[in-house]
Amino acid sequence: MSRVISASIKAARSPVGMRLAGYLSVLLLSIAGLSACQPETKPPAKTSQVAADETVMAMLERIARNSGIQQAKHEEELRILQPKLNPGSPELMELLLLRGGMSLRSNQEDVFESSLKVLGDWPEGAGKNNAKLAHQLLLARRFLAKGQLAPAKKEMTGFAAYTEANTNITMLLRGHALMSGLMAESGDLDGALSHINIALKLAEKAQKSWRRADLLATLADLYVQAQQVDRAEQTIVDALHEAERDPDPSMMYSIQTMQGIIYAEQGKQKLARKAKLAAVESARTSGAEDLLALALANLADLSLKQGDYATALSLSEEALPLAQSAKDMSTESLARANSGLAKIGLKRVAEGKRDVLASIAFDEKRGANSSAAGTWQELGSYLERAGDLEAAVHAYHQHRKLIDVVLRDDTRKAVLESQAAYDDERRAKDIELLNRDMSLKAEQLRERDLRLKLWAALGGCVLLSGVLLGLAYQRIRNSNRALARSNAALRVQGERDPLTGLSNRRHFQAAIKRLADQGKLSGTVFLIDIDHFKRINDSYGHAAGDSVLVEIAKRLRSTLRDEDLVVRWGGEEFLIVVDTRDADYAGVLAQRLLDSIGCEAVSHGQQSIPITASIGFASFPVAPQSLALSWERAIDLVDTVMYMAKAHGRNKAYGIQAIAADDEASLLLLAARMEAAWHEGSIKLLALHGPEQASASS
Ligand code: GH3
Ligand code: MG
Ligand code: MG
Repeated sequence: MSRVISASIKAARSPVGMRLAGYLSVLLLSIAGLSACQPETKPPAKTSQVAADETVMAMLERIARNSGIQQAKHEEELRILQPKLNPGSPELMELLLLRGGMSLRSNQEDVFESSLKVLGDWPEGAGKNNAKLAHQLLLARRFLAKGQLAPAKKEMTGFAAYTEANTNITMLLRGHALMSGLMAESGDLDGALSHINIALKLAEKAQKSWRRADLLATLADLYVQAQQVDRAEQTIVDALHEAERDPDPSMMYSIQTMQGIIYAEQGKQKLARKAKLAAVESARTSGAEDLLALALANLADLSLKQGDYATALSLSEEALPLAQSAKDMSTESLARANSGLAKIGLKRVAEGKRDVLASIAFDEKRGANSSAAGTWQELGSYLERAGDLEAAVHAYHQHRKLIDVVLRDDTRKAVLESQAAYDDERRAKDIELLNRDMSLKAEQLRERDLRLKLWAALGGCVLLSGVLLGLAYQRIRNSNRALARSNAALRVQGERDPLTGLSNRRHFQAAIKRLADQGKLSGTVFLIDIDHFKRINDSYGHAAGDSVLVEIAKRLRSTLRDEDLVVRWGGEEFLIVVDTRDADYAGVLAQRLLDSIGCEAVSHGQQSIPITASIGFASFPVAPQSLALSWERAIDLVDTVMYMAKAHGRNKAYGIQAIAADDEASLLLLAARMEAAWHEGSIKLLALHGPEQASASS
């Protein structure tokens, strides 16, 4: 996995393409320039700590530019400087914002609180509004650091009131950058783009090319998230040009790393390597140990992806002691994981597994669950390639479990909530528009109605007026019916996946209650995961990926009966619940599902895309002892068999026929080591094969 830092905040990136991306991309929250400062037009202050030719503002700006690295050194500089600054001075405000931001990263609650307090008690006067915004920014950042998106957004509710007329340009710029990060985290990329564009304009006004460069790198990252990789490529080139106007190694490092990530996303491996090598050189020039460690670890990551395990290993081994000495835990865990994966690639499987597990344990201890989840997934795929299938299945399963934990955490919840709120808002708007439309029509009809009555009264053609009145009445009734229908349709939308029209998880939660008697599931569950779907997106484009999802959803629906529950479970995963406990019928159905997915390539424009999927299935209660499970446990079990099907070559369906267990606890123990339990005969599986593949064409 790769990580990048921006000049202003060091942030962990989710590994590109990790499964979480299907649910929601974990975003780089590069709050560009959040903790930086703005030189004011006032006589430069000097202190004895500052080099003779450096004003306090220049010193603060230098620290802001490098605030992602050598933090301990900068914290010390700021600590010494603070008592020398005048109360109410712009220098003090900038310093507090910087110190507050850094203390969040180094977990120094007391420093954070005291910075916040001074900003909160800022004297009345010209700087008061800026101090108020600075105070809000720090509070919002504290929530973000804890992963609490909703309260962070709440903190920024009054932000629109800050304008160039009443706020310092750079402070405003930081506000827009933070807003952009908040919106990106909530999945509102349009909103994020618009804030970043405002921030860019402000940076231009402030004539700060390093800020523009930093913001352009953030913009490029947003484009990557929005799957507009070509725009991202252009933007990062712009960032590079901007940075070269006022070069500084740590900024160059950030931009080159981002460029490497973009090239890798585009499949331009050579360019990706070149960019990451340049990033290592910039990191060396900066003289910062933590930055160099990160750069080496990132390059190791790329070497791993390119199958150059020996290089990956030596880079990781160089990175590890640097990260340890800089006390940079996230880079340490990254270096450890990468060295382990490299060893597995070099067939030193047992040793490699130990390293990777150590990295995961380290991540779990420091609460970095999404990083640990990504590492489990990578471990799974390396073990799968090394032929250690049992361990691979276990790793995939752990990955899935942790993803669920991550999905349950506050940030994800806030995202889901804000998406739901967005849906509701849109629906309310649709209904309002429809109502307005209807009342307009009704008004027109009433008018016509009156005219007709008048006509009739005047002794005109009674028959005609009768017919027209009848028509008018009919139309009003139809309009009302249409309104009722639309309302019903809008209600349904909230429970449908907009792309495929299948039920979504929200609907599933409600529906499963009907199939689970006192919480225990009765029926057959299928979990379907499209094989190598990421490759389909990479080779044919995201739109083609979407068409595949739509087509597969259609095929699944037409293979099943109306009463069967078909859910879009995740990005390219579908969950089916059928109300049957007949294991033979379940097997027949699994074969039909494999055939319907794999029999015919999916057409997208001129292209013909061959698709296969892996399926896990089981009927509940579980034979032979009729052990009943909760639906959560049931899905967990089916998930494990699905991964068995993946690990055994994909395009297969594996179904649980029987588990020799007397109670739930022993069933779960066997399921946890399914591969071995299968070989011993304590778990009976049915293995089915999908149709032979036709080759792709385009
Ligand atoms: P495996 O065979 O192991 O399942 O590999 P995979 O590539 O299918 O699995 P992985 O989970 O790594 O990748 C799933 C990809 O699906 C990643 C994500 O970008 C993509 N994806 C998720 N949701 C959507 C979507 O709505 N549309 C498109 N086009 N792609 C999506
Ligand atoms: Mg998947
Ligand atoms: Mg898949």
